[in-house]
Amino acid sequence: MIRRIDLRAAEASTDYRASVPRAEFDVEAATHAVRPVIDAVRTRGLEAVLEYTRQFDGVEQTEVQVPSAALVEALDALDPDVRRALEESVRRLRATCEAELEGEVTTELAPGATVVHRKVPVDRVGLYVPGGLAPLVSSVVMNVVPAQVAGVGSIALASPPQKHNGGLPESTILAACALLGVEEVYAVGGAQAIAMFAHGAGPCARVDLVTGPGNIYVAAAKRELRGVVGIDSEAGPTEIAILADDSADPAFVAADLISQAEHDPMAASVLVTDSEQLAEAVVVELEAQVAATKHVERIRTALTGQQSGVVLVRDVEQGLDVVNAYAAEHLEIHTRDAAAVAARVRNAGAVFVGPWAPVSLGDYCAGSNHVLPTAGCACHSSGLSVRAFTKSVHVIDYSRGALADVAGHVVTLATAEDLPGHGQAVEVRFAGDRGDVE
Ligand code: NAD
Repeated sequence: MIRRIDLRAAEASTDYRASVPRAEFDVEAATHAVRPVIDAVRTRGLEAVLEYTRQFDGVEQTEVQVPSAALVEALDALDPDVRRALEESVRRLRATCEAELEGEVTTELAPGATVVHRKVPVDRVGLYVPGGLAPLVSSVVMNVVPAQVAGVGSIALASPPQKHNGGLPESTILAACALLGVEEVYAVGGAQAIAMFAHGAGPCARVDLVTGPGNIYVAAAKRELRGVVGIDSEAGPTEIAILADDSADPAFVAADLISQAEHDPMAASVLVTDSEQLAEAVVVELEAQVAATKHVERIRTALTGQQSGVVLVRDVEQGLDVVNAYAAEHLEIHTRDAAAVAARVRNAGAVFVGPWAPVSLGDYCAGSNHVLPTAGCACHSSGLSVRAFTKSVHVIDYSRGALADVAGHVVTLATAEDLPGHGQAVEVRFAGDRGDVE
């Protein structure tokens, strides 16, 4: 079922990024689909949001904001086991976020010359929680907790309306919002939600930053609106790569490939191994395990798609080159000495070490964040964290003497750039009587 790519004879100069499996679709193409949605929301606001909600979600609405009573009711009705699991997920992620929160850094360059690197939370954020194929209640936690720990003052959250829930987002999502104290929740999905956040529409005031995962249309809308609004990363259809040798358990490997294929027919599952025996055993396991899953069709489509495959390599060394070139959203290492191999990974959204750290642990309760860059963006972007919700501001504080010490260099560089006004702005401070002013 899953295709096989043999790179064992590949030369050292091979561009592995071009030879590993990747979806034919690209976010670029989806931007054509979302551009009219974004333009309409920008120009016609709420009216356009309601139109696209009717078209894409099949829900007739007159308003988009979820009443606070619905949030409270959802939390009251939440299954106690789900509540306990959510609370544990929150507890672990909050601990990581608090540990990762960066403080102020002050550098004294010379007596009286300081530069302070100050971290300031973003004022207002729009968090996206997917709800097309599966109600990702865990994405409420992954978005909200780092935003709160960072100190963001105003948090809005959007998730697609559900026909079976009277046009509200899924009840577990509403309950998680109430659990975390998020009061501004919108029943809006897809590109229209991202556009609503970026431009403001109806009751939703524009935000400064949009974060969260989503399907290809959500990822495309984020790319299209980057600049109008800040974005975290393009966290689109999910991907798992597994680097494994003959010490790996094929049942574990197959289960983990399936767990991510379950997200979306566009999801990617890639096994990179130097063991032909393991590759064959995993294929046998996939056949058996897929047949026993709930979402068989979705999983089969993802596993047999262009974006998934078993890649055969000569050794773990070549495997590392391949996974670094692929830059997967999630990378599992199932080799001997897995921690040492993992330490050599440069490009991945998150790395899961050894047989006891499956991606589904990271999806819910590891204490790490599951909103991660996809489609190769892990070579330049990071997963969501408390850092994404803060900005850095340099605060420059120099005394007269400290400026005098460096004034000559400023004037020289201003002259070299043919910008004498820059030099004059320093010289004027030392001219005539002003030179004596402290
Ligand atoms: P979603 O909420 O992302 O998308 C549903 C919305 O898509 C709908 O509300 C609708 O408005 C819009 N839509 C549907 N068809 C459309 C069309 N033809 N044109 C324009 N808009 C359309 O939910 P989903 O579809 O279930 O996708 C969730 C995605 O999130 C999956 O791909 C999953 O892999 C991904 N995910 C990624 C990460 C990550 O960090 N990278 C984490 C979790 C989930």
